[in-house]
Amino acid sequence: MANKYVGAHTSASGGVYNAILEAEQIGAKAFALFTKNQKRWDAKPFDAKTLDRWFSELERSGIKPKHILPHDSYLINLGHPEEEKLQKSRHAFIDELQRCEVLGLELLNFHPGSHLVKLTKKQKEDEALVWEIEKKCLDVIAESINIALDETNGVTAVIENTAGQGSNLGYKFEHLAYIIDKVEDKSRIGVCIDTCHMFTAGYDIRTREAYDATWEEFGEIVGFEYLKGMHINDSKPPLGSRVDRHHSIGKGEIGLDAFRFIMNDERMDDIPLVLETIDPSIWAEEIRLLYSFIED
Ligand SMILES: [Zn+2]
Ligand SMILES: [Zn+2]
Repeated sequence: MANKYVGAHTSASGGVYNAILEAEQIGAKAFALFTKNQKRWDAKPFDAKTLDRWFSELERSGIKPKHILPHDSYLINLGHPEEEKLQKSRHAFIDELQRCEVLGLELLNFHPGSHLVKLTKKQKEDEALVWEIEKKCLDVIAESINIALDETNGVTAVIENTAGQGSNLGYKFEHLAYIIDKVEDKSRIGVCIDTCHMFTAGYDIRTREAYDATWEEFGEIVGFEYLKGMHINDSKPPLGSRVDRHHSIGKGEIGLDAFRFIMNDERMDDIPLVLETIDPSIWAEEIRLLYSFIED
């Protein structure tokens, strides 16, 4: 029997506990949230009343911390090439981890970072040059993670794969593996695979053959022991386009089969499977659809 925890990125506006309530309303067994305004650097610490309500709603909901995948602020770039901005990002990332700690959460999902180097079309075709620039940035990201893990306790840093738009790193499994390799505490590092990002980065999952080959590659390069969560999104842009635009399940370029494979794949058991699809008004429907795919 499949052991799947499907949910969505719900809204914490008005209080973090609201994310739990919205998750319940849409029939979610997992969810993601921002623990602070994702477009701001700073946030007030949680007050006692908010924390009380969070813990009581969480207990009542029966949703376990391992099925909750908080996402950090979009402003943070742990690979920033400028010292001052890098320090600001590292500081904010530590704060995000500490907020998770206070909420009793175990995971923090984040995008690895961007090198921000403007490359000409010709430079982009120079694979050795691109890798040299990327590697330098990946080293900075790994160092950022090591610093943050040193200063916090209990929360696992969960790197998300990206579509590879602009100078965003993490669009290749090799990038994720490179970072993991340099992280000292392997017990507190993991990955979140976003199906839209994976697909637009060039990893096909639309047919049984493609799905198996892609995940085999993931297993060899990264390893399933690091898979701590997934973002379940269809994609507006086509395979390999390196563009990050989500779509509702079954309405994009990926199509339904890939999601049927995931729902029947034991390797995705017991981790949060979180919708970030574009129409929250049909999340309940999408969750029901995904659960209906499970074959016994
Ligand atoms: Zn995502
Ligand atoms: Zn995305």
